[in-house]
Amino acid sequence: MSFYSVKDYQTLLQNGKTTCVDAVSFYIHNIKRNKHLNAFLEVYEHEALQRARQLDEKRASGETTGKLHGVITGIKDVICYKDHTVSAGSLILEKFTSIYNATVVEKLLKEDAIIIGRQNCDEFAMGSSNENSAYGAVLNSLDNTKVPGGSSGGSAVSVQADLCMISLGSDTGGSVRQPADFCGIVGLKPSYGRVSRYGLIAYASSFDQIGIFAKNIPDAALVLEAIGGKDEFDSTAVDDIFLYKKEALNHKAYRIGYFPATFNHPSLDPEIAEKQKNFLNKLQDNGIEIIPIDFDLLDYVVPAYYILTTAEASSNLSRYDGIKYGTSQHEKEIEEQINLTRSNYFGKEVKRRIMLGTFVLSEGYYDAYVSQAQKVRNILLNKVNAVFKETDAIISPVSPTTAFTFGEKSNDPTEMFLADIYTVFANLVGIPGVSVPLFRHSNGMPFGLQLMASHLNELALLALAEKISVINERL
Ligand code: GLN
Repeated sequence: MSFYSVKDYQTLLQNGKTTCVDAVSFYIHNIKRNKHLNAFLEVYEHEALQRARQLDEKRASGETTGKLHGVITGIKDVICYKDHTVSAGSLILEKFTSIYNATVVEKLLKEDAIIIGRQNCDEFAMGSSNENSAYGAVLNSLDNTKVPGGSSGGSAVSVQADLCMISLGSDTGGSVRQPADFCGIVGLKPSYGRVSRYGLIAYASSFDQIGIFAKNIPDAALVLEAIGGKDEFDSTAVDDIFLYKKEALNHKAYRIGYFPATFNHPSLDPEIAEKQKNFLNKLQDNGIEIIPIDFDLLDYVVPAYYILTTAEASSNLSRYDGIKYGTSQHEKEIEEQINLTRSNYFGKEVKRRIMLGTFVLSEGYYDAYVSQAQKVRNILLNKVNAVFKETDAIISPVSPTTAFTFGEKSNDPTEMFLADIYTVFANLVGIPGVSVPLFRHSNGMPFGLQLMASHLNELALLALAEKISVINERL
């Protein structure tokens, strides 16, 4: 009983061919069979079944159903769900229970979704491989020796391995798009401000955005319709309603820009580069105009990203001191208590980033690092505004390689950071990006392409993503 899409599933529900209870039972069964993947930190079996029963009754009574009626959804362990544990993949929050719902959770519930569990991730969403979770790595279900990507690895693998229909993750520098690419599914990072961050545990607040994992573009679009919009609890959430009315764009002549530097970068696997470049030619043959655009800032994006995000993280994570938040270590002296709490319960990568962030913010270094990185961010913003005057979207690789082997990069943080080269750009400038699964490498692993559009233009982004998926299927 695998469901191809949310729409198909909801039609089956309406026609009485299946029930929410059946669907939940199917996914619970799959989760149990795939425990070794370590995708879920907690499964709400009893609650999910109870909610499924209520939703089945609601439908039977003829009451109007929500957009996500019966949709079995997983949430990354950085999204607050009232009366449920949320640990950010960290020991420091191991016993922390949320006392309120994130806005996205409120919206999921309002639209009749069923939340099935809390998904494993890199600690405080810092990482690209899920090897930084305090609760063990998540395995890629296509090849258990390979990473699922990160930081939302549990959320990606859950959709990949049919452990739920949809997952919500978070994307600060690629954490939805890159694991989606490594798992062969769709990963959408909305525009900064499209989705409220209220109740999302912060990593770097001016970059963070809640994103969506799905098996296809229309499912991702439907979830975005449900979770987007303004919010009185998050002043950065934009007052703009997203509706996936793609018919409006049926006859549009698309222009896609690309930076040749991205496809020619030495870090890009040659087979990936070749398949992607060939595909750009195919798009051209199918009436989409492909325009090369000069871009000489590629080598600055990763450093700018890691300076600014670690600076923000060092401030955001100061609240985990064992007093305001975090597991307490009872010592006589308060300073010692804070030191021990933070030393004992934060993992290595989180400590590295707090130290890096504190360093770049310190007097004497601020101008050399943070100010420079802010300048890069501004230059990129100007560049991107100019590019979108000429084009509807930018296309690029998602990651330089397919899913790599456990341990391959974990001893070299710089190498791990550099692999974020294609995804951090969208977060630096706040634009939406989606990874579209398209190809298979000769090593057996999937990969695709990333599309990015101008701020709040998810409509063109997703319509175009759907179009290129269809073109690829026809090839
Ligand atoms: N891999 C990036 C990092 O480690 C992205 C993380 C994210 O998007 N949360 O910072």
